[in-house]
Amino acid sequence: MSGATISPFPPATWHAIDDVAIVGGGLAGLFCALKLSPRPVTVVTGAPIGEGASSSWAQGGIAAAIGAGDTVASHVADTIAAGDGLVDVKVAERMAGEASERIHDLLAYGVPFDRDLDGVLKLSREAAHSERRIVRVGGDRAGAAIMAALVAAVRNTPSIRILEGYVAEQLRCVGRYVTGIVVHDCRGGLSARMLLTTRAVVLASGGVGGLYEVTTNPPEARGEGLAMAARAGALIADAEFVQFHPTALDAGLDPAPLATEALRGEGAIIVDKAGTRFLLDLHPDGELAPRDIVARGVHEARNSGRGAFLDCTKAIGAEFPEKFPTVHAACMKAGIDPVRQPIPIAPAAHYHMGGIHVDGAGRSSLDGLWACGEVAATGAHGANRLASNSLLEAVVFAARIADDIQGLLPNHKVVAWSGGAADEALADAQGQSELMRRLRQTMSRHVGVVRDAGGLGEALQVFAGLEAEARDPQLKNALVAARMITVAALTREESRGGHQRSDFPQSDPALARRNFTTLAQCNQIAAEAVRPTLVAHAPAA
Ligand SMILES: Cc1cc2nc3c(=O)[nH]c(=O)nc-3n(C[C@H](O)[C@H](O)[C@H](O)COP(=O)(O)OP(=O)(O)OC[C@H]3O[C@@H](n4cnc5c(N)ncnc54)[C@H](O)[C@@H]3O)c2cc1C
Repeated sequence: MSGATISPFPPATWHAIDDVAIVGGGLAGLFCALKLSPRPVTVVTGAPIGEGASSSWAQGGIAAAIGAGDTVASHVADTIAAGDGLVDVKVAERMAGEASERIHDLLAYGVPFDRDLDGVLKLSREAAHSERRIVRVGGDRAGAAIMAALVAAVRNTPSIRILEGYVAEQLRCVGRYVTGIVVHDCRGGLSARMLLTTRAVVLASGGVGGLYEVTTNPPEARGEGLAMAARAGALIADAEFVQFHPTALDAGLDPAPLATEALRGEGAIIVDKAGTRFLLDLHPDGELAPRDIVARGVHEARNSGRGAFLDCTKAIGAEFPEKFPTVHAACMKAGIDPVRQPIPIAPAAHYHMGGIHVDGAGRSSLDGLWACGEVAATGAHGANRLASNSLLEAVVFAARIADDIQGLLPNHKVVAWSGGAADEALADAQGQSELMRRLRQTMSRHVGVVRDAGGLGEALQVFAGLEAEARDPQLKNALVAARMITVAALTREESRGGHQRSDFPQSDPALARRNFTTLAQCNQIAAEAVRPTLVAHAPAA
């Protein structure tokens, strides 16, 4: 098969006006594009906007301390408690403080949040929130409804150009300035690569769940944005902190449908095969304990053969189909009637607290590069995200980035494409997807809910082998993201939040600090971790 070609894009005439590129058509990317309007922007997204995005699958809603009796301080306190010592308090305060304004923005874009008969927004409660503060839509349809409204608003905004079917692969830099992105036109099996020259790139490419065998995320969530930033030299923060959702439907589906936390908020309980509740043994809040604790409890119950089930029969019963239509449909499709039967559950990779390190304005450590949404690490979530804080963080930081970029002068200088080795032979798709399968299996086996040094080292060994065979740029980016998570997990020799080490089961107060690293540092640690095994397997002289 012939190699792909690279041509400057968009055509030269666009350059004078089109200098902001946003990678990702989820909530963070679309909200940022709308907030930048009327400044022209290009949204690059592999899947059509609104698809291939975790945002569309969100079930609970958005956390906002807007109810009578609730306060921003209480929301911040809950965020800090869930984050297990690593939340950046100032960031959390500003995020919670801006929630009300952003909810009003969403209402203005047409999001039909649930209201009571007096027109007041209805608020529900979720695990580890001390108040009812989740705004939602149609019970468990928040993500779909928010995204439908934003997609319509974006399509009606002439200043937003949408490139659907284009996968971003690589950032172009001059020194520490990001000057463009290489995108791969994947429509209809095409192999052309193009360069978008930019004044500002906003990465809003979502999380890393798709790197795991069992995940609630869409397949597009494979850490490609994180890897692109890391390869360009950006600082990556807190990569070891992956949140596993404790109640994914265990019915062999990929991705695994989610049984929202709001079910437990309504009183659903978690039981083993014998019908015994076991989470109260681990935490006084039982089913409403922070996610990492519930996920570990479910993981241990399954590993020990006791099994784990979400029993909604008493707390929700016949109201299930109306109150939680999305979960109900997923259960029925898997042959489980949640009105009458406990739902079999498993922990699934769900949310990445780590990502591209950004400051309060969403700026990364590279000039010309911003990040928001799940791909960014703002410090708001610490070691463990509080439920429904991620959609909030996405809109808060997308708005701040738009403000920051509005202050930039447009780029009238076209940065010339300087060649480079981006022409790649098209990879053998079947072979590459087998490598991706092994990557996902390894992540779930060794970099999952519970980790140890031996398993993490083994994972790095597997990745080194896969790297040697990887040809597809998306797979190569996925491998970089997987390596960064694994190395960060190896170097954090304690258990904290979403990161549990069986060989270091306690938190170490001396390690109560965030982790910032570059790809170069990560590669060095990975090489050292793999070297002894290679020596051990070397043929005798
Ligand atoms: C099932 C589920 C339920 C959830 N429920 C809630 C909830 O109730 N409340 C809450 O706060 N959070 C929830 N979350 C988390 C939340 O949905 C996400 O953290 C948030 O939506 C992330 O938004 P985002 O815009 O950063 O990423 P996404 O919405 O995932 O969008 C990423 C976009 O980037 C695109 N993309 C990725 N890589 C590339 C590339 N290389 N080139 C081009 N495009 C690319 C994708 O196709 C997609 O368009 C849930 C997550 C899941 C999976």
